[in-house]
This record gives sequence, structure tokens and C-alpha cells, in this order.
Amino acid sequence: MSNKKIEKLVGKYREISLLGKTEAVLGWDLRVNLPKKGAEGRATQIAHLTEIITEKWLDPEFKKLVEGIDVQGRSLTVEEKAVVRNLRHAGKFYFKVPKEIIVEFSQTSTRATVVWDEARKKDNFKDFLPYLKKLIRLNQIIAEHIGYKDNPYDALLDLYEPGLTSRQCKQIFAKLQPQLTAILKSIQKSKNYREKSDLVEGELDYPKDDQEQLCFFVLRKMGYDLDAGRMDDISPSHPFTSELGRFDVRITNRYNTKDFREGLMVAMHETGHALYEQGVSEDYTDTPLQGGVSLGIHESQSRFWENQIGRSREFMKFLTPIFHAFYPRQLSEVDTDTLFGLFNQVRPSLIRTEADEVTYNLHIALRFELEEALVNSKIEPKDLPEVWRVKMKKYLGVVPETDREGVLQDVHWSQGPMGYFPTYTLGNLYAAQFTEKMKKELNLEELIEKGELGTVLSWLRTNIHQYGSLYWPDELSKKVTGQGLSPKYFLDYLRRKYSKIYSLKLP
Ligand code: MG
Repeated sequence: MSNKKIEKLVGKYREISLLGKTEAVLGWDLRVNLPKKGAEGRATQIAHLTEIITEKWLDPEFKKLVEGIDVQGRSLTVEEKAVVRNLRHAGKFYFKVPKEIIVEFSQTSTRATVVWDEARKKDNFKDFLPYLKKLIRLNQIIAEHIGYKDNPYDALLDLYEPGLTSRQCKQIFAKLQPQLTAILKSIQKSKNYREKSDLVEGELDYPKDDQEQLCFFVLRKMGYDLDAGRMDDISPSHPFTSELGRFDVRITNRYNTKDFREGLMVAMHETGHALYEQGVSEDYTDTPLQGGVSLGIHESQSRFWENQIGRSREFMKFLTPIFHAFYPRQLSEVDTDTLFGLFNQVRPSLIRTEADEVTYNLHIALRFELEEALVNSKIEPKDLPEVWRVKMKKYLGVVPETDREGVLQDVHWSQGPMGYFPTYTLGNLYAAQFTEKMKKELNLEELIEKGELGTVLSWLRTNIHQYGSLYWPDELSKKVTGQGLSPKYFLDYLRRKYSKIYSLKLP
């Protein structure tokens, strides 16, 4: 970047980036290694770093540069303009929300994560409630400071997906929900419909070590650079990916010894996130262009590998002999079609992360509605468990018996962000849209069946990963697929795939 002011800006931002990654190490350690009694000290450490980072943002010279640079003229390159745009976007948070609130938010969320983890284990929502109340209140305060047109929830959505509004979310779910429900109902009436399988959650046991080795085999195939990453077991907690540096992108996993699918799908999902970070142009390291552009695009990468690749019949065919080798006692008699059916078993379930592709977005619709209502004070936090049960019954026809399987299942609200969940649905939609385009350029089925995933990764690197945060989601979507986000591709994909599996003509 040759513009002097931009150079100065990027130089100053570098300190923010380095501190942010240091903070990420503390956050990773908090969730992977921290002994219980270390939580309070860790909350103080992280909050202190947050304070220093916020002060760097508020440095008068830095703020003046971010706000003052003229991006209208022709003198700036595309990259330089993107630097300013990204900093102004992040600045909406750092410049407008008082430092004390930012620090309080950080401290509360670190404490809340630890409390939530215990509350979930003990199935005790009451322990978590005071923290949840405080975090909702802080989210409301943050939204007021950032500002919004007609819904405070919009101010929060925009933090994770630039430009996303409640109105857009409502439109997307209004299109998805009735069609997903109709597909689900047809599947439930089909003669192939099964709620259970003897292969999982029964007599058979899949030792954790075998599962872990199989995951390492698959993520190496996907092209995950393990010299610049690692995978840790955090069972039974919520898996995640952390970018701690350009050459340090880590994933976590959890295993269920009664179900060999879960750990594998999580590994592919998280590796999808990690590959995105590992594929960003090295020139962008520690600049505002490093890192995935939004949570929606990030999730498109994880869901692409998990679903479009991992749950495809071609990949099941590739994996069949490998499953036989890893689990000879359990799976030696099982063929590709059975495995394909098993990995794509549709049924209403309680846990979002274990949901199939048809019902997954119904779980998100529920969370979107609850978040939007909480931020707008339309429901009381204490009523959440009950509202959760009512909505589960309405959308999925199942009701959790415990809060552990209900309102306490997700880590997100304890970590602070509200406005994050809808990006999961965007990710599913983008993944299907990108795949459609990829299929026009690659012989995707054949590559997957042969396990030649390097070509697939190269396509993603060329079209998406290398750009980091250069293009915003809508711009990137247009560049890759020729149009902005459309739910059509996802719905078409579901109909094609599940009409085959369940021998149906889907609505
Ligand atoms: Mg994800």
C-alpha cells in the first residue's frame, strides 16, 4: 500500500492486530485448558487487554486518520479503500461505545462463559440467568450507542454481517421456513423415514482415539496445514476455531463414543473455517484485510466442507473402505448407501449442532426470533426456557425435557454476542450458491469420489479465501456467483438431494 496516510494507518492498526491475537490466545486457553479456579484471573487479564486495545482504537491520531481519509477520490487503490471501509465499520463499535461498556462486556462475557458451562452441565438455568440478563442489557446499551434506523437488533447484526438487517432476516426465514417444514413433513411420511439406527446411539462403541485418527486423516485430505494449526479435544464443550496468528489457526473437536458421525462432521466444519484463515493472502497479515470477511461467509466455508462435501454420496463412497478399516468390528458390513442415508438422516431433533440440513435452519429461525425479542425487551430473560419449549414444539414438533437440551445448549449468548445466529443460515445459503458455481467449473462429483480435495481447495483459495476481507459479502457473492445471496440454490439442493435419499417427489 503506497498511500502515506494508509501506510500510517496500517502501521498503527498492526498493534491492534497483535494485541487482538494475544487476547485470542488467552481466549483459546480459557476454553481448552483453564482450571476452574483460574477463571476470575483470566477474566481480569482479558478485560485488561480489551481496555488496551480499545485505547489503541481511541488514539486521537488513529481515529482522525480513520475518519478523515477521503475515499471518494481516485487516488486510493481497491485495497486501500477496503482498509478504510473495514476500519470505519469496526470503528462503529470502538468509537461510539464507551470504553467502560466495552470492558464490562468483555469481563462479563468471560465470567458468563464459565458459569454457563457449569450451569449447562448441572442443567440449572437459574445460575446462568443473572449473567444472561446483564449481557442482554449490555447488548441493548451497545445498540443504542452504535445507533440504528428502526430496530436496535440491526446495530448488532451489522457487527457480524455488515449491512444485515432484521427485515432481511425476516424475509429470508419467511421464504425458508414454510418450504423447510413442507420438506420435513414429506420426509416424515416417506417409507424410508427412520428416527433411529442400530449403528449409532446403541450397543456399538466407537473409541475416541479411532475417531480422532480418522478426523486427522480427513482434515489432512482437505489440505489443513497442521504445521500451522492443531486440533484439540474439548468434549463435551462447544467446538470452535481460533485464529491466533497467520500461521497458527487452531480447531477443537468433541467426540461421542456412541456416534462416530459427530466428531467427523465437527472436524470437517471447523477445518472449513481454518482453511479460510489459512488461505488469506500473506500480504494482508496483521492488516485490516486479514481474516474472513464476515461470519456468514465464514460459515459458508465450514458448511461447504461439512455438508456439500462431507455429507455427499461421493464422499461417503470415498470413505466407505476407510470406515471399514477404522471400525472393522462396527461397520464392516455397512455399504455406501447405508452410510449416505445415516449421515443425512432427517428428523426433528433438540440440538442445533446435531441437526440435519433440512431442520438446521429452523433451529436458527427460533434463535433469531428470541434474540430479536430479547434485544427489544419483548420477552423477559427469565421466561426463555418456557418460550424455547413452545417454539420448539411449533417449529420442530419436539420439546426438550431439560434446559441443557434447550435454552442452555449454545455457548453464544454466554460469550456476549446477540445477532450472531442468523449468520449460520446465511452460511448455509452461501455454501449452496458457491457450490452451484463450482460445479460449473469443476467436475466436483468425480473429484470428491476420488478424494482429490486439493483441486476443490484451490478453487476456494482462488475465488474466496485469498481475498480475506477485501470484498464485502454481497460484493464477494456477486464476484463469485454473479449475484447476491439467494435462498433458491439451497432449497433446490435440498430438494434434489433428499428426494433421492427418501425416494420422494418433494414439494
Ligand atoms: Mg461454524
